[in-house]
Amino acid sequence: MRNTSWKISENAIILNPKVSEICSLLIPTLPPMPKSKREGRVIRVTGGDVWVEVEDRLLSCVLRGRFRQRGRGVQIAAGDRVLVSTAGPDSDVGAIEEVLPRESSLSRFIEGRDSGEKLIVANIDMLFAVTTLRAPSVNYNFIDRVLVSAEWGEANACVCLNKIDLVEDRSEIERLAAIYTSCGYRTIRTSAKTGEGVDELEKMLQGGIYAFVGESGVGKSSLLMKMDQELDLKVRSLGEKSKKGRHTTAYSQLFPIRGGYMADTPGIQTFGFPGTELESISNCFPEFRDMESDCHFHRCTHSHEPDCAVKAALEQGRVHRSRYDSYLSILSEVEARIKKKAY
Ligand code: GDP
Ligand code: ZN
Repeated sequence: MRNTSWKISENAIILNPKVSEICSLLIPTLPPMPKSKREGRVIRVTGGDVWVEVEDRLLSCVLRGRFRQRGRGVQIAAGDRVLVSTAGPDSDVGAIEEVLPRESSLSRFIEGRDSGEKLIVANIDMLFAVTTLRAPSVNYNFIDRVLVSAEWGEANACVCLNKIDLVEDRSEIERLAAIYTSCGYRTIRTSAKTGEGVDELEKMLQGGIYAFVGESGVGKSSLLMKMDQELDLKVRSLGEKSKKGRHTTAYSQLFPIRGGYMADTPGIQTFGFPGTELESISNCFPEFRDMESDCHFHRCTHSHEPDCAVKAALEQGRVHRSRYDSYLSILSEVEARIKKKAY
């Protein structure tokens, strides 16, 4: 690799330096020109190390400084389309020069020292909000928050009602499904145990980028394994390629499934509203959108104001109580955040 000098990656933390380990942390500083820029797909983000799939190669890439925002971490995620420069066509390392515009994203708000909107996955084709009626019982607030995050990032979303084999009374399933179909979401009923509905789920995976999001225990891994028995193996082999060992935590990762990708969202059990303005919340409830112009107040929060069209629709049963309660819960979360100036 002529014309290539080396520098230590700014993210390198050397705990027990051995020459071989230091070598693996060295990254090339690329020659000023000419550079070949190629388009790729971000597969995994761990701190400053980003794996990008370019054609059928996996490159370990560094992020240029301008993609870092102070206190906000790295604003790049699995699923992003990027332009990378490499020292040559056979190089295994590169630098991310540009993040191409996102068509959609999934993000959430994280409280704490580094509080702010955190990207989970970009360019998602369909988000599956996975839920159950039994074991565990349905958590409306969680499903609604996931759907709201999808709306916020302009990602298509649907509801997957799993473990239907545990529900004897089918009308219970239909009642839950009706809440979401009336808001415009497609609803699929599945059982990873009996296989019912799994073919419908499979048909929806058309080589794009997908995410299964739901509380722990609703059957996300079981559904994925049902559709692709080799999945476990694929996840493991992707992990083995990490230079930093097995315990590197990926902030954001995709793994291959049925000609497309599934986003890995392990341990994500809270979905703070990504925005910071009260008015933006109701935009993420599709069933409220057409009503809002009928509210008496222009910037109605649909909570305490008189002559509110959303509250009127709630009384008439055109807005579901569980959806309205989720809305109020997000509203008070964002109000508290504004009071604390925690964003
Ligand atoms: P995850 O945490 O969402 O990935 O959930 P898992 O896939 O690990 O499933 C949690 C438990 O529910 C496991 O014991 C599964 O065998 C069980 N399970 C998953 N799907 C179904 C289903 O459709 N019906 C029944 N009866 N059990 C299921
Ligand atoms: Zn209103």
